[in-house]
Amino acid sequence: MAVLNILNYPDPRLHTVAKPVKEVDANIRRLINDMTETMYAAPGIGLAATQVNQHIQLLIIDTSETKDALQVFINPKIIEKNGERAFEEGCLSVPGVYESVTRAETVKVEALNRHGEKFTLHAEGLLSVCIQHEMDHLLGKVFVEYLSPLKRSRIKNKMLKLSRQK
Ligand code: ZN
Repeated sequence: MAVLNILNYPDPRLHTVAKPVKEVDANIRRLINDMTETMYAAPGIGLAATQVNQHIQLLIIDTSETKDALQVFINPKIIEKNGERAFEEGCLSVPGVYESVTRAETVKVEALNRHGEKFTLHAEGLLSVCIQHEMDHLLGKVFVEYLSPLKRSRIKNKMLKLSRQK
């Protein structure tokens, strides 16, 4: 396994739209393992393939406190959403920034697991937020795009300044 490099906002590659996974093969499983190590090392609770510059519809999530409940979503689709709720979000691609975003309160998702088997999941709370946040990455969308243009440009400047310091 390997820790992968995470793209930082405003890297234009974060705006790439991911393609569906055709076959859940050994390459995909290797990427899942590397993404898992990368997410836990960060540390984070969710990571989309887009963030490690792999533009396929794959994301991983672990919202457990013990970090032993990894969930893999391949080609995820939201088939039902209900309610509305604001939640303070952060993102491994926008380090140090936490802002409130309003999303659906609950979602029903259909996806493939790491064995290529289809499953359906009803998610609420943090898991629901996380799924919607990570699925946005697959569409080339970063959570700061929900904020006002002023806030967004402030964050962009802060991130550019940070990357120059590195
Ligand atoms: Zn994110």
